[in-house]
Amino acid sequence: MPLLSIVLPAYNEEQNIANTTTVLSALMEEQGIDYELVFISDGSIDRTYEEIEKAANGNVHVRGARFSRNFGKEAAIFAGMQLSTGDAVVVMDCDLQHPPQVIPQMWEKWQKGAEIVEGIKADRGKESLGYKLSAGLFYKVMSKLIKIDMNASSDFKLLDRKVVDVLLQLPERNTFFRALTFWAGFRTETVEYKVQERQFGVSKWSFWSLMKYAITNATSFSTLPLQMVTVMGTVSILGSVILFIQTLVRYFMGTSVEGFTTVILLILIIGGFIMLSLGVIGHYIARIYEEVKGRPKYIISQTTGKGRDYD
Ligand code: UDP
Ligand code: MG
Repeated sequence: MPLLSIVLPAYNEEQNIANTTTVLSALMEEQGIDYELVFISDGSIDRTYEEIEKAANGNVHVRGARFSRNFGKEAAIFAGMQLSTGDAVVVMDCDLQHPPQVIPQMWEKWQKGAEIVEGIKADRGKESLGYKLSAGLFYKVMSKLIKIDMNASSDFKLLDRKVVDVLLQLPERNTFFRALTFWAGFRTETVEYKVQERQFGVSKWSFWSLMKYAITNATSFSTLPLQMVTVMGTVSILGSVILFIQTLVRYFMGTSVEGFTTVILLILIIGGFIMLSLGVIGHYIARIYEEVKGRPKYIISQTTGKGRDYD
């Protein structure tokens, strides 16, 4: 009988673990799907990991791991996939904002041969101004670039073991799970779902963390910002050619302008362009630096639950 692994990243979700375990195991049993739940406590500072241990003691299908510190949701997803043993793996939030009722539909499509089943947001729920300015804006740009609606897609998806193995073999540290499955290809189907309200607790994203997430992902998935530097350079060269000619003509006509204002403005504009470009390049160098160091994506300090291997 095929096994379904459900990977659940959890950061300060002590109130959600028990409830999510109950809801998911009831659903899996009702559907007759053999399953395991893999919780990853992403450096939570509350009792999330203790709650996972408790759930694992009460249910053989539950396993968990604890990170030594907060490494971020991407890292937690990858750790969960690494620990999972299922023939298919579903990744979902542990606050039940990704409705569990969709899992059987994903499972069915997988059984019919789909290798990736993408969860697509039917309606996006409430989006704050902060979101629209950071992640929302970034997704718009990304969507244009890779021709997939990033705003509607999410981390909620089912992956065949084959796909999971491909993703786990990627050497890069700055991953962007949401887009990587599109990059990987494979036979992909979609399932629509409605984003639910959070069960307990609060969202872990602040304006700044969303902003950081957007910038990191933009640069890990696209070199467009670097090409923008070239575009800016070209624009200023064109501008300078025009000014060059105009200045020379005026000089020979004896009507050259008093220089101060023009010079100050030009220095400011060019200085701005140069610093902005250096910043963009610096950001990529930082990314390269991080990748080159070759540190692991995450550190696991503790695991719980037996998993199927020991049955
Ligand atoms: N999460 C995580 N590490 C983090 C932040 C969030 O593992 O650093 C998890 C969190 O526990 C949840 C999921 O990622 O299961 C989505 O986070 P959240 O619900 O806070 O985001 P939102 O639904 O508001 O986008
Ligand atoms: Mg959530």
